[in-house]
Amino acid sequence: MAIRMIRKGNDEILKEKASQVKEITPNIINILEDMAETMYSKEGIGLAANQIGVPKRLVVIDIQDGNLLELINPEIIDQEGKEVEIEGCLSFPGILGEVPRATRVVVEAFNREGEKIKLEANGLLARVLQHEIDHLEGNLLVDRAVRFLEEDN
Ligand code: ZN
Repeated sequence: MAIRMIRKGNDEILKEKASQVKEITPNIINILEDMAETMYSKEGIGLAANQIGVPKRLVVIDIQDGNLLELINPEIIDQEGKEVEIEGCLSFPGILGEVPRATRVVVEAFNREGEKIKLEANGLLARVLQHEIDHLEGNLLVDRAVRFLEEDN
C-alpha cells in the first residue's frame, strides 16, 4: 500500500468522467487500498479514484464510524429531499462551500468480491456518497457550492 499524491484545484483529471471498472483485478484492489491509505493519511472521510489520478469509478468512504466502504461502479438509483450543508474536499484544501444535496440516497455498487451491494443512507453518509459519486462525473464542490466560507485554520 502507498499514500498517493492528491490531485488538486484545476488539475484536468478532476473534470474527467471516470470509466467503468470492467473487471476487479489485483490492480483494482491495490488502487482501493492506496485510496483508503491516502484518505486516512489526510483525515478525509471520502476519496474518489480520479483524486489520485486514476480515472476509474472507484470510491472509498469512512465517515469515522469504523466502517470502510469500498465502492466499485457506484450509482445513485434513488434519492429524495434536499438540504444544504457545509462541505470540504481534499482536492480543494482551505475551501468550504455550502452545497445542496439530497437528504436520502440509495446507491448500488460492487464490493471487492464482485458482489452487488445496495446502501440506503441519509445524513452525512448520504452527502459523502453524493460528493464522491459526483467526482466520478467530473463534478466538483466548487461547481456545486451555492456559497463559499473561509476555513478558520
Ligand atoms: Zn472531493
